[in-house]
Amino acid sequence: MTSRIRAAVSGSASSLTGRPAYARGCALGARDSAAATVARVPDGRYAPSPTGTLHLGNLRTALLAWLFSRSSGSRFLMRVEDLDTGRSRERFVAEQLADLAALGLDWDGPVVRQSERGERYAAALAALDARGLVYPCWCTRAEIRQAATAPHGALPDGTYPGTCRELTAAESRGRERSGRPAALRVRADAAQVTVEDRLLGSIGSVVDDFVLRRTDGDWAYNLAVVVDDHAQGVAEVVRGADLLETTPRQAWLHGALGYGAPPAYAHVPLLLGADGARLAKRHGAVTLADRAAQDRSAADVRAELAASVGLCAADERPEPAELAARFDASLLTAWSPNAVTRRRS
Ligand SMILES: [Zn+2]
Repeated sequence: MTSRIRAAVSGSASSLTGRPAYARGCALGARDSAAATVARVPDGRYAPSPTGTLHLGNLRTALLAWLFSRSSGSRFLMRVEDLDTGRSRERFVAEQLADLAALGLDWDGPVVRQSERGERYAAALAALDARGLVYPCWCTRAEIRQAATAPHGALPDGTYPGTCRELTAAESRGRERSGRPAALRVRADAAQVTVEDRLLGSIGSVVDDFVLRRTDGDWAYNLAVVVDDHAQGVAEVVRGADLLETTPRQAWLHGALGYGAPPAYAHVPLLLGADGARLAKRHGAVTLADRAAQDRSAADVRAELAASVGLCAADERPEPAELAARFDASLLTAWSPNAVTRRRS
């Protein structure tokens, strides 16, 4: 037994049971009085997009999110992020949930489908619009790329520079007449946001005027995630470090929508292939089905993923409950910081 595992076994998960210091979040906007007075247990969630088969990297993130919740006695919620109507497939919804269950992960309540929640997103958009915070944007991707290369104050490179924010009425009419579809953006006024991530520390960023509804009419990821996390009572977001760049925008939007403090965040390291690149299909047997074809059971895969974060030895096959009893998030902060893809926006 390594010292790390021993620490995991003997160490209590007490740091997960209260509202720890990392949950400071960022101070944004007016707090919703109801949200402020109701004690929020740190419910967690996993929110896969059904655009393909979950690979071991996705499964490890799901396992970690489940461990964060279950080790502290919290509820664990499941949400299917099927907003991308062009890429989402019903067969992947069923397959992904089956793979998660095979791994031994369970969840509370019904599976929430973003594709069924358009009314909630529309209401949130209307609330922002009523405060003058929404404007149409006719820019194409190429135009944004081009404009974003010019200096535009405090905004990070590559973000939306606000081209359509200050159009005159005549300019807006002209663009409307062109028939080109408009996206809807939120007026964030280059807000400076700092988010406390329990694994990565302070993440500071300037928030650009990001998209709420896309030109194709689909709801944008950032809006849906914030509305859903609030509606579901999610107080702790554990997800892959590749989503870190979306976090300051989402934390800001929580405040702008009057939801009070954003959830606590923990962005976990991505699983890498042997070549050091982010795990992908080209790395070989990377799904549960691939592993099954090699006579590796779901319990074997669970153990493999747990071993990769120091929760068990290679020859152990611990049950999920045993892993939850061993889990201590502080293990992750000590473990492999170089494996974290740390992009900021
Ligand atoms: Zn624009």
